[in-house]
Amino acid sequence: TQAAAAITVRTTCPYCGVGCGILATPQADGSVAIAGDPGHPANFGRLCSKGTALGETLSLTDRLLRPRIEGREAHWDEALDLVAGRFREAIQAFGPDSVAIYGSGQLLTEDYYVANKLMKGFVGSANIDTNSRLCMASSVAGHKRAFGSDTVPGNYEDLEAADLVVLVGSNLAWCHPVLHQRLLAAKARRPQMRIMLIDPRRTVSAELTDLHLPIQPDGDIALFVGLLRHLAAAGAATDFASKYVVGTDGAVAAAAAWDIARVTEATGLAPTDLETFYRWFAETERVVTVYSQGVNQSATGTDKVNAIINCHLLTGRIGRPGMGPFSVTGQPNAMGGREVGGLANMLAAHMDFSPETIERVGRFWKAERMAETPGLGAVDLFAAMAAGRIKAVWIMGTNPVVSMPDADAVRDALKACPFVVVSDMTERTDSAQLAHVLLPAAPWGEKDGTVTNSERRISRQRAFLAPAGQAKPDWWIITQVARRMGFGAAFPYETPAEIFAEHARLSGFENEGRRDFDISGLLGENYDLLEPVQWPVREKSVERLFADGGFYTPDGKARMLPIEPPPVLNPAPGRMVLNTGRVRDHWHTMTRTGKTARLSAHYAEPFVEIHPEDARRLNIRKASLVRLARGDSETVVRALLSERQRKGSVFAPMHWTGQFASKGRIDALVAAKVDPVSAQPALKMSEVTVEPW
Ligand code: SF4
Repeated sequence: TQAAAAITVRTTCPYCGVGCGILATPQADGSVAIAGDPGHPANFGRLCSKGTALGETLSLTDRLLRPRIEGREAHWDEALDLVAGRFREAIQAFGPDSVAIYGSGQLLTEDYYVANKLMKGFVGSANIDTNSRLCMASSVAGHKRAFGSDTVPGNYEDLEAADLVVLVGSNLAWCHPVLHQRLLAAKARRPQMRIMLIDPRRTVSAELTDLHLPIQPDGDIALFVGLLRHLAAAGAATDFASKYVVGTDGAVAAAAAWDIARVTEATGLAPTDLETFYRWFAETERVVTVYSQGVNQSATGTDKVNAIINCHLLTGRIGRPGMGPFSVTGQPNAMGGREVGGLANMLAAHMDFSPETIERVGRFWKAERMAETPGLGAVDLFAAMAAGRIKAVWIMGTNPVVSMPDADAVRDALKACPFVVVSDMTERTDSAQLAHVLLPAAPWGEKDGTVTNSERRISRQRAFLAPAGQAKPDWWIITQVARRMGFGAAFPYETPAEIFAEHARLSGFENEGRRDFDISGLLGENYDLLEPVQWPVREKSVERLFADGGFYTPDGKARMLPIEPPPVLNPAPGRMVLNTGRVRDHWHTMTRTGKTARLSAHYAEPFVEIHPEDARRLNIRKASLVRLARGDSETVVRALLSERQRKGSVFAPMHWTGQFASKGRIDALVAAKVDPVSAQPALKMSEVTVEPW
């Protein structure tokens, strides 16, 4: 690596949605010393194993250092002309919806903003979706149904101030480790604080909880509908609900049939455990319910989110310290992506597609051709590609050939697509191997911008290394292509600061408090010196969202929804339920974490976790190789026998790719089933066969 200067730079971790502040100090020998930033309010100096090892991931091995066209090195001008030309030709011949961008929660807000503006204001298509669809689309949809806006109401301090923290479908200890550390430190200070976990697996997060409910897969809705019934019967409804919430009666009526016996049947939980949970929730004022991918990555993910939010709205446990529903995002900038409209069904600055907002955003952008309807979500996007309807696609900073459900079909769709562009830091991802044009994107450490973490806190990522080779920031690459497509007047950007300022202006444009996302109060701040800050940042600062209602619905009231639990999932004979997820020390498809032996030592190869009784029944021995299959897709991985695993289900990590293990691509086995409201895939709920290899 090339050290720019031996000074310490304050930046933000590129991994999970906790968004820890980092101090990066390039050393004379080319290495970079990494430490937690004691002044950052997300982590106060703490880091987890992944953050601590960041300095070991900066080597140039594997880096894509120059543009490539069909495998040969090319000049930037040639590559950019080709991309702009092929996109323009496809649009002219087949219309705006024949092109697409598939981005990533790893992109910085400025990158995202420019990509979104290009597609939705100038190409005239909303076919820009991102891997955030796989991560938190159900939370977005649930928030919007309940609050009228995609608003995470609380902050990290609420977890520390709560008397009961309910983790639902969240292995916080591994997936948001520093937040977990903060939670445990709070419990050490206040031992009366209760922490409980609702998860089919007894994960590491269960170790330090007061109660673990090993729920049946997708039993969450029945659990929370039963809780709502209990709360209503216990007289826990509050003035808050009567003043600021609509739909209370309908939601409670829909829950009427869900007594303990029925919830027991739908969740597989012991009645005594259910009663304990319901009693704790009812008697505790300060409750935070933290939920993550076990909730979101489901065919009923949005209903799960609303079933949880219903319980907080009925009891008024929202908008005050130490309470609220709290979605923790997986990626470092999934929230920033949401803020600029980085999903196919969002326009910009938390605005949807309505005639009024299309007109407003179009006027602000001086758009040439506004998208007028939502575009294709990730699963539909690759299905449209497989059907030949997408003629040119640009993939930015993500690896859908590994991470999308039905990943073999996604690989085949990309192989058949006439023009595939990939911008990334490496050419060795499975998706980059299928690109016609490869563009070297500057990675973390070499570029500047902002990210937003799970508690709505915007932080700067700052460069501390000179760009390697000819790598360029994503916003620059997109701007150059936009100019070559003839949209130069609207893409004058020379720095990310200019883009951020435009984004901030748009957030306040004709807003007047009608939309939650407003950072117009940051205009005039020095971008380089920007301190971590929670939105909204209006002229008049907002201390706490929803303290006195003030929801972003037309009447200012929140919505409780009647939610019906789905039928209990019974896998077909001979099948097991496959649950996919993360391990502690790897990130996504290991582009960065795979570079350090220290992180790879935790789990050195892909595996499947299986209950010992299931293993005995299937004649699978400890540490033997196991074949998992669905249709024509299969993987072969190592068997880990563990009583942490629920009987009838198996767990396999999502990280391994064709690069690291030829048969480790677990998402090839995940069916492309999505939540009908959020279009988020059910990545935790596929039926597979499991047998010795
Ligand atoms: Fe990075 Fe998340 Fe670890 Fe913090 S908790 S250091 S943001 S991976």
